[in-house]
Amino acid sequence: MKFKSTRNSNNIVSPSLAIIQGLASDGGLFVPTHMPKLSTPLDTLVGKSYQEVAYAVMKEFLTDFTEDELKYCIDSAYDSKFDTEEIAPLVQVGDAYYLELFHGKTIAFKDMALSILPYLMITSAKKNNIKEKIVILTATSGDTGKAALAGFGGVDGTEIIVFYPRGGVSKIQELQMVTTKESNTHVISVNGNFDDCQTGVKNIFNNEEFKKELLDKGYRFSSANSINVGRLVPQVAYYVWAYLKLVQNNTIKIGDKINITVPTGNFGNILAAYYAKKMGMPFNKLICASNSNKVLFDFFKTGEYNRNREFVLTSSPSMDILISSNLERLIYEIVGSDSTICKTLMEDLVDKGDYQITNEMKSKLTDFVPGYATEENTFETIKSTYEKHNYVMDTHTAVAGYVYNNYRRTTNDLTPCVIASTASPYKFTPNVMAAIDPKYKGLDPFDLIDKLHELSGIDEPLAIKEIRDGNIMHNINTDTNKMLDIVKNILGI
Ligand SMILES: *Cc1c(COP(=O)(O)O)cnc(C)c1O
Repeated sequence: MKFKSTRNSNNIVSPSLAIIQGLASDGGLFVPTHMPKLSTPLDTLVGKSYQEVAYAVMKEFLTDFTEDELKYCIDSAYDSKFDTEEIAPLVQVGDAYYLELFHGKTIAFKDMALSILPYLMITSAKKNNIKEKIVILTATSGDTGKAALAGFGGVDGTEIIVFYPRGGVSKIQELQMVTTKESNTHVISVNGNFDDCQTGVKNIFNNEEFKKELLDKGYRFSSANSINVGRLVPQVAYYVWAYLKLVQNNTIKIGDKINITVPTGNFGNILAAYYAKKMGMPFNKLICASNSNKVLFDFFKTGEYNRNREFVLTSSPSMDILISSNLERLIYEIVGSDSTICKTLMEDLVDKGDYQITNEMKSKLTDFVPGYATEENTFETIKSTYEKHNYVMDTHTAVAGYVYNNYRRTTNDLTPCVIASTASPYKFTPNVMAAIDPKYKGLDPFDLIDKLHELSGIDEPLAIKEIRDGNIMHNINTDTNKMLDIVKNILGI
């Protein structure tokens, strides 16, 4: 098993090098040269621990890791940092099954991948005799930032630099990031939106001259963004895990189909579900839930990807995205792995903000069902789920909850459905509480956290306790055109 670039099918590297490089040197994303099948029979995995399931899945992709190396990475990541031994509990709420991916350090699903990525990277560096210090450069719409800071903070041989859109993340998300203490962490707010941050980071990555300069100084860039296969691969594991849980609690028998609904932004999480399906998991529909920034909904409906539209700030900021980077991996597949066509489409997106796929390509997208939720739909779903089932969900999960309910109602498809629950309600307390009752609007976030505790009975996570009395450690602000200078400054170049 190797990985190849979506923009040059002849650019082929080992799994560990794909993790180190993050983005391919030609600007493409790494995809597996062939989709592996899950070789461990499903029935032998029922009842196994999360770590064991993760190993069975990840070893199919990371074939140049030894068993000991991969198990070391898995066991170092999925340990008592998570507040439950199950790591990702599956909770039945009404007729749906919520896969809670928010029990890690920063109470959002990105912990699932970012708690293991540093170990995968350090191991990959050792395997490839790489001596330079690894510099992680990341753009965040809120959750990636803190999850990456938590993952890499204090890890020897790494520096981590995070850019976030000023005013484009929640107060709590911002506090989580700027209170990070470790000396190898750097947090910068950018005057722009998430896409501006992401474009800025991509430009730095693609700056060959600067990369040479870096190597001379003993540094090497890598990416913790969801374009890194070291994030994608660990995410495949929890969809297999969720399926096994449904078997274990007798909801389904092995071989029965399930649907999966994912609240989607950069298209990483749902792509992992698609990879699991390609590995042989009996998944039927993959329901792609967007918020009001419904570029993906329009794309699946019409075959036109068009980012030329108003960027809307919503209550689910981690999904406020107009360029879903990971979609490139799916595009590569539907153009028949032709990297020239893929490259042209992606360049059109940069140059014109738009591309159109052919009907033949579109016919290969039938696994996906698109949907979206307005702000009103989202809040209504939080309220009604709380009132009917006494279950409090965050705004991102509620987007998926609404889209799922709507799908089930309009199609009458009664296939059991797993919904990826991507953040703790504690991470987005003000909007969650205001959705439950307007009387909570505008109150102090920390008072609302106390109220949420009373209402839900869920213990306040450690992540919240940590920011209540954390000090502000980072306060650099920059325009988008100064991002490179900031990086140079930090690294002393
Ligand atoms: C990042 C994020 C998403 C979107 O996931 P993608 O992999 O970017 O599609 C959804 N919800 C939350 C809470 C997130 O942090």
